[in-house]
Amino acid sequence: MQLRYNYRVYPTPAQQASLGRAFGCARVVFNDGLRARQQAREAGEAYLSDGDLSKRVITQAKRTPEREWLGEVSAVVLQQALADLNTAYRNFFTSLSGKRKGRKVAPPRFRSRKDNRQAIRFTANARFKVLDNSRLRLPKIGDLAVRWSRRLPAPPTSVTVIRDAAGRYFASFVVQTSDEPLPPVDAEVGIDLGLTHFAVLSNGKKIAAPKFLRRAARKLRRLQQDLSRKQPGSNNRSKAVVKVARAHARVADTRRDWQHKLSTRIIRDNQAVYVEDLCVTGLGRTRLAKSVHDAGWASFTGMLEYKAARHGRTFARVDRFFPSTRMCSDCGRINDNMALSVRAWDCPCGSTHDRDVNAAKNVLAAGRADNSNDRGAQVRPAPVLAPRVEAVIHSDAACSTRSVEGIPVLQGGENVNVVTCPPSLSAAPAR
Ligand SMILES: [Zn+2]
Repeated sequence: MQLRYNYRVYPTPAQQASLGRAFGCARVVFNDGLRARQQAREAGEAYLSDGDLSKRVITQAKRTPEREWLGEVSAVVLQQALADLNTAYRNFFTSLSGKRKGRKVAPPRFRSRKDNRQAIRFTANARFKVLDNSRLRLPKIGDLAVRWSRRLPAPPTSVTVIRDAAGRYFASFVVQTSDEPLPPVDAEVGIDLGLTHFAVLSNGKKIAAPKFLRRAARKLRRLQQDLSRKQPGSNNRSKAVVKVARAHARVADTRRDWQHKLSTRIIRDNQAVYVEDLCVTGLGRTRLAKSVHDAGWASFTGMLEYKAARHGRTFARVDRFFPSTRMCSDCGRINDNMALSVRAWDCPCGSTHDRDVNAAKNVLAAGRADNSNDRGAQVRPAPVLAPRVEAVIHSDAACSTRSVEGIPVLQGGENVNVVTCPPSLSAAPAR
């Protein structure tokens, strides 16, 4: 399995300038490539092959006065920018033809100097190197100071350098790691994700929703107001932009950290984990949108998925149209629709159910049934919103622009065997 290890880096002002140039060159090559393909299409010509495109927008372009400065940065960075474009096109085509599952993928778009995240990638060909003095040597950039918050388990195959909206720099290494199977356990669990609780487990445990964003909302609102009062294009405005970005980044860090601890614990304690396949995109457009995005279910289930794969556990999503709330987990009777305010109910069979725990039990039963029918392995490639410490790279996303842009902010380490219990987990189960 390929994992990402991310570290904060601290480039000097001169290195920041070199990185800025490299971000710019990568962006120009990406945009030139996109424009060339668009123009070929409009002219009714054939799709430009990857090789032809590379010759046109890198090799030949470097010889022209308008683009000769492309020679100032590592050629690998430029080739990788083009590789991102090619992947974006391939994803678009396979999505069009239906070969790619999930949401429709839009055609590639131009990158902007004003994008919040800037990133460049160096592969092994670029001969980047971690030096004995623990600095990271990047060709034509220099030796960068890295805060090694944890050890790299193996030599990395590539490194992506990112500048985020808050002006921080990160090095994201891709490392080939072996699986780490955990000793088998008997327990299996169904999980009901919700808004009243972040998650309710079929064993009766309830995990309170972390409303990090809500808590930080007041501060964010104030920063946003400050920002709106600033003159467009002024220095003070760009400072305010960074402040807002920093506040958002802090919230995202805390949430990711919390989700990591919770998902690690669930995977460690259970041999099989089933979750209801929520239509998060749909819910995100409703009145509940803020809570939904605040909850971050997609990144959480993504973590469960990759940790299950890595540690030899079963993970599956259960069909979302399954009436998990209304069905009695004891007798299987499907009861009438219930208002959201109904938290507990009695079934004519004599069972009394907590609404959410009953749903989680049904998710567990459905997951087990799917699994024995061998449909349980229908794991959709969910976009793993890169976790705090490690992120899975999906085979088709390995080189996409998304995997670059979606790279998060990481710090600290995590050990599967030493898990601190999030405070909310120790809260009393079923009321
Ligand atoms: Zn019943």
